[in-house]
Amino acid sequence: MQTEIIKIDFSRPLAPQVEACGKILARGGLVAFPTETVYGLGGNALDEGAAKKIYAAKGRPSDNPLIIHIAKPEDAEKYCHTSEAYYKIAEAFMPGPITVVLPKKDNIPASVTGGLSTVAVRCPAHPVARALIDAAGVPVAAPSANTSGRPSPTAAEHVIDDLCGKIEAIIDGGEAEIGLESTIVLPREGGVTVLRPGGITCEMLMEVFESVTLDGGITKKNESGAAPLAPGMKYRHYAPVATVFLIKDAGNADFDGRVTRFLARKLDREPRTGVICFDEYREAVNGKNVFYFGKKADDEEHAKRLFDILRKFDKTDAPEIYATASDTRGVGLAIYNRMLKASGFNILEI
Ligand code: AMP
Ligand code: MG
Repeated sequence: MQTEIIKIDFSRPLAPQVEACGKILARGGLVAFPTETVYGLGGNALDEGAAKKIYAAKGRPSDNPLIIHIAKPEDAEKYCHTSEAYYKIAEAFMPGPITVVLPKKDNIPASVTGGLSTVAVRCPAHPVARALIDAAGVPVAAPSANTSGRPSPTAAEHVIDDLCGKIEAIIDGGEAEIGLESTIVLPREGGVTVLRPGGITCEMLMEVFESVTLDGGITKKNESGAAPLAPGMKYRHYAPVATVFLIKDAGNADFDGRVTRFLARKLDREPRTGVICFDEYREAVNGKNVFYFGKKADDEEHAKRLFDILRKFDKTDAPEIYATASDTRGVGLAIYNRMLKASGFNILEI
């Protein structure tokens, strides 16, 4: 299949630029598009055939449900049973990087929800995503626009690498602003459970809800065999080909000194060693496969750069990768969660 690539000119009206892509979606085709979190691979959420094409293009397991994207928070009424909690979330955070899991209505095919009786809905803030959903005139089912298992795409080039030739069109709207997938919440009696951390942080949710709990799968490996609340969280994800070690602070004095000496020693023995570390380590830690992902305290910058760096490792000869983790407060929890998954929960306490 020939994939058309449409570069957005933000100085011109968006609707005419995405009109043809809206039509592709309405007639059952697939279009990758930018959002504020990561790039999505869109298909008509009311069309079973479109959902099947999404799973096929990504190589995604069919029990890993899709998020449906809507133009306005009220549109959720048409596809699921909303609640007071939903509207609290909508008022505080929509449009924006948050997804809410709600009981689904019958018009959403089971293939979209991986057979679940619930559906995940999100109202994105990105102007191109909003223009595209409007142009399609249907809800847009959209997982991240990557090959299943690879890091989510934060730029059109990543989508081109994974999906060119497999879908009708890719809309290039520049780099994703947040760089990590949406926060997923499940409303429950008295509050919400966070199934996947993201740009809307637990601290932000705590300003709206009395009780905010974290699903166990966010920081721990599911070894019980129990069905996870967010089925997608069980899959190996984001992982470069080389083994990743996530460096964690064991709580002793001078963490930075210990880590930089450890990394410098590794690089001394094996100059191809892969590293993701803070800008502050630049002098002590360097090598051909060393990437710096922002100042230690700048978790927003880490979020923006992490997936691109993880993808870059696959174009290097690094036999092993050592990554320094962010603080787990704020958006740091989402970064830590993605790094844990990238490392397959391979933690190195230093
Ligand atoms: P992705 O679109 O690739 O970012 O993945 C979507 C995520 O949303 C996966 O982790 C899914 O498991 C999760 N998800 C989608 N629908 C539901 C649902 N109905 N209940 C729980 N999690 C969901
Ligand atoms: Mg994904």
